[in-house]
Amino acid sequence: VTAISRPEAGKPAADNSDYKGVWVYIEHFDGKVRSVGYELLGEGRKLAEAMGQELAAVVIGQGVEHLAKDMFASGADKVYLVEGSEYKHYSTDAYTIALTDLINTYKPSVILMGATNDGRDLGPRVACRVGTGLTADCTNLGIDEETGLVAWTRPAFGGNIMATILCPNHRPQMGTVRPNVFKRPEQDMSRSGELVRVASKVKPEDIRTKLIEVLSLSDTASCNLEEAQFIVSGGRGMGKPENFALIEELANILGGAVGASRAAVDAGWKPAIHQVGQTGKTVAPKVYIACGISGAIQHLAGMSTSDIIIAINKDADAPIFKSADFGIVGDVLEVLPVLIEELKKI
Ligand code: FAD
Repeated sequence: VTAISRPEAGKPAADNSDYKGVWVYIEHFDGKVRSVGYELLGEGRKLAEAMGQELAAVVIGQGVEHLAKDMFASGADKVYLVEGSEYKHYSTDAYTIALTDLINTYKPSVILMGATNDGRDLGPRVACRVGTGLTADCTNLGIDEETGLVAWTRPAFGGNIMATILCPNHRPQMGTVRPNVFKRPEQDMSRSGELVRVASKVKPEDIRTKLIEVLSLSDTASCNLEEAQFIVSGGRGMGKPENFALIEELANILGGAVGASRAAVDAGWKPAIHQVGQTGKTVAPKVYIACGISGAIQHLAGMSTSDIIIAINKDADAPIFKSADFGIVGDVLEVLPVLIEELKKI
């Protein structure tokens, strides 16, 4: 089912002709762009070409000018760069001021952001400051043929319908997009573009929060599902929460993240941050190991883009085997310890 909210009939359309260009907000950590940034540049390029406008990347941080080359290679025509010590780590106050100022000055028509922790914090706040709306957690983007507006599609009502939302009257059209739903574009290192350095407007008194500690990626690796190359996921077939220790051990050996089916999350065996699927995270690791997961369509919706899927299930007829590249028919509580022992030997 698709629900489309169209401009109100009979109402004159607002004059938004000042607003031009598609922007992608680039999230980075430890000097590296998070993969959702590349995915959105690929998608942003398609929108910009369909709209006959240019694509720009917005990079805010400290010591991040080197990322511009990467942005041009990934499809950006322009990079807006705001640098300063106040942007060393993500801060709601500083980043909100910087992005709001950029929008008010340069007036983009569309802004894409990752539906990550930072994007979910920054996007709605900036949208409110510039007086526009935001479609959160999109899983598809396109152009509405009738209006030429960006068509933002996202699951609604607990994933029971896919709603397509248009932003007819206000600018920019803003949305956050789930990581891993789009492929990274091929890079063309011969591309170049225009680097626009923008002075920071943030004053020390604008920053109302104090950063106490920054956790390294390894501290949070087990729930960093979006960027993980290996994911070991457990479902109801794990039997009880204590058995997730096997999932965690295997994920740890592989340097990967821990996923869970909704059944395991609903049972309280793992926090919702680990849920993979239509109403959880969309993941695209090199290897996804599904343990005691039946393979319901809503689970597959979040992991079927994995390069290699390995399923362990005691029921040879479980639907997960239809999507799996390798299947092990057996009891997870017997198979996982053997797998862990063998991998420890490598
Ligand atoms: P089950 O379907 O109960 O499967 C358990 C599997 O474990 C079975 O195949 C069984 O053979 C196997 N098993 C049991 N014991 C063992 C053992 N000892 N060794 C090996 N195998 C064993 N689900 C999600 O995962 N993510 C979502 O985002 C999501 N969103 C949803 C949104 C909507 C709107 C709806 C309606 C549902 C959603 N669901 C989602 C739920 C989904 O439909 C399934 O109910 C859920 O994925 C089932 O989880 P499961 O595979 O762990 O459990």
